Amino acid sequence: MNIKDLEIILKESNEPTFRLKQIIKSIYQDGILDFNKINNIPKLLKEKLIDFKILSFGIDELKEGVDSVKALLSLEDGNFIESVLIKNSTGFTVCISTQVGCAMNCSFCATGQNGFKRNLTSEEITDQILFWKNYLSDKKIGNITNIVYMGMGEPFLNYENVKESIKKFIDPGFFNIGARSISVSTSFPSSVNIEKFTKEFPQVNLAISLHFADNKKRSLYMPINEKTDLLDIQKFIEKYLEINNRKIFLEYIMLDDINDNEYDANKLIEFVKVIRKNYLIHINLIKYNSTFKNFNSSKKEKIIKFEHYLLREGISVTVRKSMGEDINGACGQLAGKKII
Ligand code: SAH
Ligand code: SF4
Repeated sequence: MNIKDLEIILKESNEPTFRLKQIIKSIYQDGILDFNKINNIPKLLKEKLIDFKILSFGIDELKEGVDSVKALLSLEDGNFIESVLIKNSTGFTVCISTQVGCAMNCSFCATGQNGFKRNLTSEEITDQILFWKNYLSDKKIGNITNIVYMGMGEPFLNYENVKESIKKFIDPGFFNIGARSISVSTSFPSSVNIEKFTKEFPQVNLAISLHFADNKKRSLYMPINEKTDLLDIQKFIEKYLEINNRKIFLEYIMLDDINDNEYDANKLIEFVKVIRKNYLIHINLIKYNSTFKNFNSSKKEKIIKFEHYLLREGISVTVRKSMGEDINGACGQLAGKKII
């Protein structure tokens, strides 16, 4: 919602100063997206707000799966993004997008396929949560407990807007979601913004999309590795753990016969072991979600073998359950296209 525009209307209408706070509470905390449904707003003001759009996008399509719902959202300039609601053990996690497309072009990911179109505004990012909040409050099936920046785009290439969105999420006057319940995932395009983020939001979780612990392989499938490689990531993690002293997450997609062999496990162990406080590193092994790309996920047995190999070395690791694959709403499957 464009709060500044709303503020102007309220001022022009000579509304008392508490009105803005009252409306913000109803929208951001109660998930009401219709001025007519907000109590205590004068009728005259409701009429003035009749054309005021709360959400900055339209809802083009909703696709409901077993454990998740995917929304295709149409932005004002005609672009599309996707946002996913995923059931968890205590409530719901929302996977949000930060860009239209992605410039990183990782070869296994559907988002990078169509290149990069533009950054989302902070409003377009926070409105995704507004939308899902409203969806949940209408259905009365629970609340949003977690937010993951794992949808379309690279969050640290749109850091200013991502930063503004995190501020709104954790603000008790707005969404009031705990910083520890928010996770930002990155392919690590540069350490500059990530270091800023670490200082600004020390409690927000950071996940690095490592996927390969061999520079040659990482560069082959993640072109960004030519610029910031494994050594840069290692140096960053070393510093992060010294300063922050809290867990950091490494994402590792399991690609059949590409990064799931003993050689790869050993490289990963080497990568982790060099870091001093490596007991604070947690590895998430992720099943590859099929896209239109020609990759296959590692077989279940191989994933478990890989996991045990790491566990034997005392490395903290889990296999992450993939949700939303039945609606093409899992990580890496978000392409911002019409849902087929
Ligand atoms: N651009 C950021 C955040 C969005 S991608 C990043 O890359 O971290 C979110 C996660 O989905 C990343 O870990 C990404 O590597 C992973 N991912 C991409 N394609 C995938 C696929 N086909 N299957 C499973 N995970 C995928
Ligand atoms: Fe971009 Fe992340 Fe997909 Fe790579 S995995 S193309 S960084 S969205």
